[in-house]
Amino acid sequence: MRDFSNDTTLLSLNTATVNAQWTLEQCIAGCARHGIGGIAPWRDKLDECGAARAAGLIRDAGLRVTGLCRGGLFPAATPAGRQAALDDNRRAVDDAATIGAECLILVVGGLPAGSKDIAGARMQVRDGIAALLEHARAGGMPLAVEPLHPMYAADRACVNTLRQANDLCDALDTDADGGLGVAVDVYHVWWDPDLEAEIARAGAAGRILGFHVCDWLVPTTDLLLDRGMMGDGVIDIPKIRGWVEAAGYGGASEVEIFSRDNWWRREPDDVLATCIARHRTMV
Ligand code: ZN
Repeated sequence: MRDFSNDTTLLSLNTATVNAQWTLEQCIAGCARHGIGGIAPWRDKLDECGAARAAGLIRDAGLRVTGLCRGGLFPAATPAGRQAALDDNRRAVDDAATIGAECLILVVGGLPAGSKDIAGARMQVRDGIAALLEHARAGGMPLAVEPLHPMYAADRACVNTLRQANDLCDALDTDADGGLGVAVDVYHVWWDPDLEAEIARAGAAGRILGFHVCDWLVPTTDLLLDRGMMGDGVIDIPKIRGWVEAAGYGGASEVEIFSRDNWWRREPDDVLATCIARHRTMV
């Protein structure tokens, strides 16, 4: 396993971690100031900055872009809704390419409004990724399916395990050419008894495109906005990183912490300093 104890170049800041405090421009400057090697913008911040301008700032700061968050949200109640989602995803692919992202993260979407048909939603996800894949391949932008914890199945993502994500990749990317893969976010998959085997399976196909870290707090007080800093919860992050690296992953660790009542209220430079310290000791 790689030694992170003296290395921040393999740390990437997902802008969600300082979502409430900083613009993308400030995140880029903060990473440069702290020696953090990578960044992963969310699209709302990227849109505020403008993709072309952001690309220049990121390049000047010497940062890698470990992913753009996010595409996906494919299911919709009507064909027009599904088409609108596809159009938006194509724009996300283009923006990801503009900023030199290593992948576009897909949070695939949950049930359409009024629906109880989760199997149908999963079929819509499969069709949506299939429809997007051609555009993504043409633009050279890998798509990373990120399974989300099952508590988000209704409203955010009905792909909830790494096995499901791997099955989607097998079905849609039969020649495993690198255009479709997975993102392993420890927050979503740490509980899965099949995790080690499914990480190995993804790695064997060269499909691990991202590794996201934070921690699972006990108790968790908000389903979305109470993620913990690495080391403050119950996830054995080094164990999972070991599995991911044994499976061939050589990319960065992306810190992604949604924390409305804690980390989003702190001085952002202190948040980054804590991310660095925990990256060295807890990841
Ligand atoms: Zn993530």
